[in-house]
Amino acid sequence: MFVDSHCHLSFPELREHLPAIRAAMAEARVDRALCICTTLEEFDEVHALAREHDNFWATAGVHPDNEGVREPTVDDLIALAARPKVVALGETGLDYYRLGTRTVADMAWQRERFRVHIRAARATGKPLVIHTRSAAEDTLRLIDEEGAAEVGGVFHCFTETRDVARAVLERGFYLSFSGILTFKNAAELREVAAEVPLERCLIETDSPYLAPVPHRGKQNNPSYVPYVAAELARLKGLSVETVAQATRRNFERLFGIPAAD
Ligand SMILES: [Zn+2]
Ligand SMILES: [Zn+2]
Repeated sequence: MFVDSHCHLSFPELREHLPAIRAAMAEARVDRALCICTTLEEFDEVHALAREHDNFWATAGVHPDNEGVREPTVDDLIALAARPKVVALGETGLDYYRLGTRTVADMAWQRERFRVHIRAARATGKPLVIHTRSAAEDTLRLIDEEGAAEVGGVFHCFTETRDVARAVLERGFYLSFSGILTFKNAAELREVAAEVPLERCLIETDSPYLAPVPHRGKQNNPSYVPYVAAELARLKGLSVETVAQATRRNFERLFGIPAAD
């Protein structure tokens, strides 16, 4: 019934508990999950999850925060995107949150990496899983300059303002909400989420991070995505069932995954 559109089950702290996590997912009626790739080095493990389990899919990409890892070329990403059950490019995007002593100008490598992902997405026709933090303006600018709206995608773990949400929607992208939606200090985000049309919403855990209330601070896993659905349903005055069904259909539509029923 529920779909987790963004999780990191290849990370050792989750992978070592995979049988227990899969059992918890079945118990919580979380039928499907998209396993997100963050480095080329990690791809084989992410892909193995999708190959070994009918209800998992995978992405191919290098996270903007990862430094000192192999830098992808457009051809690298096109080749990985052609593998079975790879449904998107990412996660990719821009993250200026941890600049440290650097300036935005110093992050040209990050912008170039994002452009490479967008070019690969356009070449393959597959959508983008976008991570943006403290960098919304540049993220939107690069999306426009590279024509990313042609393939679309999702702004995952959305925490931006109403104006950014509008800009994302205008470009035809989806917004994915995580456990942050349940956090006490996220009142502004809840207002934004209440306004985003349900047909453009996805839900995710971003596990092992960002466990929703009442598990906040603990290790997250895909079986907790119903808490995000419940909060989104509450904000929109809809049933959890309605939100679960709509976000599942959006997931199938965006990633070209056949309907479960
Ligand atoms: Zn991310
Ligand atoms: Zn992620």
